[in-house]
Amino acid sequence: MARYVGPSCRICRREGVKLFLKGDRCYSDKCAFNRRSTPPGQHGSGRHGKLSNYGRQLREKQKVKRFYGMQEKQFRDTFKRAERQEGIAAENLLQMLELRFDNVVFRMGFGNSRKEARQLVTHEHFTLNGKKANIPSIRIKEGDVIAVKEASRKSIKFQDLQEKAANTPSWVEVDFEKMEGKVVRLPNREDIDIPVEEQLITELYSR
Ligand code: SF4
Repeated sequence: MARYVGPSCRICRREGVKLFLKGDRCYSDKCAFNRRSTPPGQHGSGRHGKLSNYGRQLREKQKVKRFYGMQEKQFRDTFKRAERQEGIAAENLLQMLELRFDNVVFRMGFGNSRKEARQLVTHEHFTLNGKKANIPSIRIKEGDVIAVKEASRKSIKFQDLQEKAANTPSWVEVDFEKMEGKVVRLPNREDIDIPVEEQLITELYSR
């Protein structure tokens, strides 16, 4: 299925939660969800009926998929891999998504949103452990070091990084002077701030 290219704010309103898809705008008064949180469409404000079990499972899956900007097949394949690991499949899934290269770049504050982080990765602005890397889905491991590529350091994009320092999670350490960050430990469920009942995703894919 093709990637969704419509308005990002519509997705937040559809899922009934802020998914922080547009960077700085999401934290400002301009956030469309703050202004109007009803589902999009002509009859959106009337669509508050009780969801079926299937409806709830589907919405939770869609929410997580859109939060990380993934496509259906990619998301389902990640879930299958999460199921094969030891532990709770849904928690494994969240950890695997959190450790995607593009997400870690975003968490380190090198991108304003996951979408922007993905674009910066594909445009080869970073190295991973000193080597060229441009695939957003690479799974980052504990101890991995991500750095802004030498040739990209003067870019205006990376000039205000210091301001992002307060928002970096505790499982990464970022040196904004050196423009590099390290994953110091793997994120656990408490580190992942998405409001989701992840077991509903397991229930959906177990149907
Ligand atoms: Fe969602 Fe608000 Fe960001 Fe739009 S501005 S993507 S509604 S959080």
